[in-house]
Amino acid sequence: MRMPPRNTKLCFQNYFKQLPIPFVVYADFECFTKPMNTCSPNPEDSYTYSYQKHEPSGFCFYIKGLDSNTTFKPILCTKTNKSDHISAIFVSKLAIITNKIYNDYYCRPLSLKLTKQEQDSFNEAEFCYICNKELNSDKVRDHCHFTGKYRGPAHNSCNLQCRKPMLLPVIFHNL
Ligand SMILES: [Zn+2]
Repeated sequence: MRMPPRNTKLCFQNYFKQLPIPFVVYADFECFTKPMNTCSPNPEDSYTYSYQKHEPSGFCFYIKGLDSNTTFKPILCTKTNKSDHISAIFVSKLAIITNKIYNDYYCRPLSLKLTKQEQDSFNEAEFCYICNKELNSDKVRDHCHFTGKYRGPAHNSCNLQCRKPMLLPVIFHNL
């Protein structure tokens, strides 16, 4: 085991991880269940008893943004024909919306809307709201590119780091 040198410190540096994710997908599938043929497991071993096959019959997903302007209406789909491939429909609908989010929001960042009060508070600010360290001449106005809202005074490097996250988490019920 190799230990770090004496008196070294670990510091949190991924400041962008403190910011909320701009878009999150919440999704759920509904399924028809069909009995499955199976054999008796060996009780001496650890096992999973599979007795039903789940065949998707529909889904709903909801994309939550940072505010009401960036939140989408829930998308619902129910199987109407035997040939409907619900999982494939889910992936294609999600891909369409993901492209829309990328083109409409990531590629077109909103410019900053600064109120007089926010400008005054920026002028007086001495500490970066992201890393909490002192601001010197390196002071910029950090804002949300999706809502246009002012977030706070920041170092240029902290501000640039907060542009990093470009991912769309999909949170499934029971998956
Ligand atoms: Zn900073």
